[in-house]
Amino acid sequence: MFRFMAPLRVGEPCMLCHAKQGYKVGDIRGGIGVIMPAASTLASFSDQVSRMLLVHAVAYIAVSGLLALLFFKTQAHIQALSDAKHAQEALVQKRTQELTAANAALGRSNAELEQFAYAVSHDLQEPLRMVASYVQLLGRRYQGKLDADADAFIGFAADGAKRMQRMITDLLDYSRVQSKSDPFQPVALSEALDLALGNLDLIIQETEAKLSLPVGGMPTILGDKSQLGRLFQNLIGNAIKYRDTGRPPEITIAVTWKKPFWALSIQDNGIGIEPQHFERIFRVFQRLHGRDKYEGSGIGLAICKKIVERHGGRIWVESQPGQGACFCFTLPAIPEAERSD
Ligand code: ADP
Repeated sequence: MFRFMAPLRVGEPCMLCHAKQGYKVGDIRGGIGVIMPAASTLASFSDQVSRMLLVHAVAYIAVSGLLALLFFKTQAHIQALSDAKHAQEALVQKRTQELTAANAALGRSNAELEQFAYAVSHDLQEPLRMVASYVQLLGRRYQGKLDADADAFIGFAADGAKRMQRMITDLLDYSRVQSKSDPFQPVALSEALDLALGNLDLIIQETEAKLSLPVGGMPTILGDKSQLGRLFQNLIGNAIKYRDTGRPPEITIAVTWKKPFWALSIQDNGIGIEPQHFERIFRVFQRLHGRDKYEGSGIGLAICKKIVERHGGRIWVESQPGQGACFCFTLPAIPEAERSD
């Protein structure tokens, strides 16, 4: 069917849409349009073309449907993933808060315990001093005047009081590592080692101990000089104390760099330690030998552990019975930005 379009004079408003078609204001616009009824037009196509059109239409609808389904499924999956991520983040945040709170509580209870240990050991010193003095007085005044049992009992009491005094002093020392410590400042480890060697001079000479110091010198770290001196003294003192009686003590001190830590080791050629005691010996008052064999109260290594941990490091032992022991510890290096050299 043809449709005749009446002639129109092109005006200004027409130019908004028809300027591109080459019209100018004043031109006459019009023409003949063709209108085709869909059913009869389709009917005029051949069967083959109709089938092809139908197949394409069905395929188009099916693919569009699939794509839409895929889109909605993916959306749902993304949403589920994002929900799970949020739930996980919330859980991590909750756990972190719980952990922070537990850490703070632990810190408080540790501080209270230390304060308690300090107060108890400090306050016990005075009455114990009195007990020890009077037992000694009894011993001096009545030694040989009562029977043999009485002499032995007074001896045991005096010995017990002396041991208890030593334990209390050690406990006080232990609690002071944290509570009565100096603020950290740059410490040359060689100076801390010199402090220790000065205090051990006599025993080193007596036992003819041979010491090998690190060839490349020792680093400077941020720490507490007197505590680091104590650390070296306890470890070197033990290396001499637990020597093998069949050979003079040989002690090798070494330092290596294990970013961001300095790793130090004190190796001896003494009696060694069985692996099942590696953890235990760092606990307060834990000893592997009787006092009759080796003098001591079992707090030296506990103090070493506390000093190393206060400095942000870790301490452990490597050993085999009869083959010496190697006490190793790490100390954080001064961060590059804070070094003065
Ligand atoms: P103490 O020497 O007063 O017993 P420590 O805490 O210093 O206390 O040591 C705990 C225990 O660890 C010691 O009793 C000893 O058995 C063992 N020990 C420590 N150092 C060494 C060492 N260098 N070689 C062998 N055993 C050691």
